[in-house]
Amino acid sequence: MTEVVATNQTIVVVGGGISGMTAALEAAECGKQVILLEKNPSLGGRVSQLYKYFPKLCFPTCGMEINLRRIKANRNLKVFTMAEVSGVSGQSGDYTLDVTLSPRYVNENCTACGKCSEAVSSEFPNEFNYGLNQRKGAYLPFNMAYPQRYVIDPKLIGTPDADKAKAACPTNAIDLEMTDQKIQLKAGAIIWATGWQPFDAAKIQPYGYGRIPNVITSVEFERMADRMGPTGGKLLRADGKEAKDIAFIQCAGSRDNNYLKHCSRICCMATLKQTTFVREKLGENGKATVYYIDIRAIDRFEDFYQKVQADKNVSFIKSKVANITLDKETNSPILNGNNLEQSGTGQDMRYANRHDLVVLAVGMQPSIDFSKFGLKINEEGFIDADSSNGGMFGAGCASDALDVNRAVQNATASALRAVQIINQVAGAEG
Ligand SMILES: Cc1cc2nc3c(=O)[nH]c(=O)nc-3n(C[C@H](O)[C@H](O)[C@H](O)COP(=O)(O)OP(=O)(O)OC[C@H]3O[C@@H](n4cnc5c(N)ncnc54)[C@H](O)[C@@H]3O)c2cc1C
Repeated sequence: MTEVVATNQTIVVVGGGISGMTAALEAAECGKQVILLEKNPSLGGRVSQLYKYFPKLCFPTCGMEINLRRIKANRNLKVFTMAEVSGVSGQSGDYTLDVTLSPRYVNENCTACGKCSEAVSSEFPNEFNYGLNQRKGAYLPFNMAYPQRYVIDPKLIGTPDADKAKAACPTNAIDLEMTDQKIQLKAGAIIWATGWQPFDAAKIQPYGYGRIPNVITSVEFERMADRMGPTGGKLLRADGKEAKDIAFIQCAGSRDNNYLKHCSRICCMATLKQTTFVREKLGENGKATVYYIDIRAIDRFEDFYQKVQADKNVSFIKSKVANITLDKETNSPILNGNNLEQSGTGQDMRYANRHDLVVLAVGMQPSIDFSKFGLKINEEGFIDADSSNGGMFGAGCASDALDVNRAVQNATASALRAVQIINQVAGAEG
């Protein structure tokens, strides 16, 4: 049974992405006791699945590394992975959380040697790469995963592969008897940093995602561009050939009454960044076309937009793509629509453009339904900054679709609000 000491002076942070890590660290570095709960086997959230950051085009791994070092060094902060909150009761200064800890089947003895993975043969879709490739049934979620500890997929339990993994482990780290554990945690304040999930592109029927080959999403493209990703950093079509002429469709499912009404604000910048991946990988042979309603690149991002616009291999077509059809001969997608910039010019506005690969810039939506935890949410489902939420605060993309810079600022503000609650509790208790 896991022993956890938590009191009404503890801050619980739910979600271990960049925002949750930031909020937890800021509060712990103020001297507060903090528990960080992450549902996945490792920390990092969706940032760890990005290839490079806009606008600097640096790797997210640097910032992540610094945060991990701070986490390891801080004794006020306790991290639980594979931990999910199922219920919350109480009020500001006195909450109780019901938490389920799922079994990893691998204990602290693990040295991440990888022998268990070598021993098993079963494979499953790799969730870290959005299912673009397979991973073993015994696996390390990704290279930089924290904790650096393998995971046995629950589907392996009871199969000969589970026994093979156990037999191969030189440090006796595999415990196939592990089960779910239910624990209760006390907390004075709760920070929800559960982040975002990509809008389900399959719902946008006219774009044929999942039906038409070579139509993928922006989050998948991010993994494809990564050297550590499913294609080793190559931009590949379903037939294994290199994609040289790549189209990006903006607002795929966003700003649309049929799907997501809101603008995620990030997608334009993410696409501008991804056009630079095309050029980085393919040089002069790489061509990117962006189909857009309007480009939202504010403040300092405007410079980045201008830099991309100046690239002769990147073109922009002002149009909401009506639908995608398949060129059966080449298995390439054809984008159909009207080019609004040709309106009034006397030229035919209609186009039917064939590309090697199409990337749908899907919107960001909250990853959980916060209303079931008694939180006030806005029309899009993100946590409202409302006094009725008491000692519970949203951080990062749990509170809005934000870029990393803004998510981190927002998380720091939430940590401060939580620290204020704990100071009030401590003051009242003398
Ligand atoms: C295609 C694309 C490219 C992008 N590129 C950039 C970029 O270049 N630069 C930039 O600044 N921003 C970029 N972003 C935005 C960036 O991804 C977000 O700003 C960032 O992920 C926000 O971090 P977060 O911690 O708030 O959320 P997340 O990264 O979503 O982390 C949330 C964490 O909470 C965990 N969690 C969820 N539910 C639960 C639960 N019930 N219990 C416990 N844990 C839970 C999740 O597993 C996850 O670890 C991009 C976005 C998209 C869509």
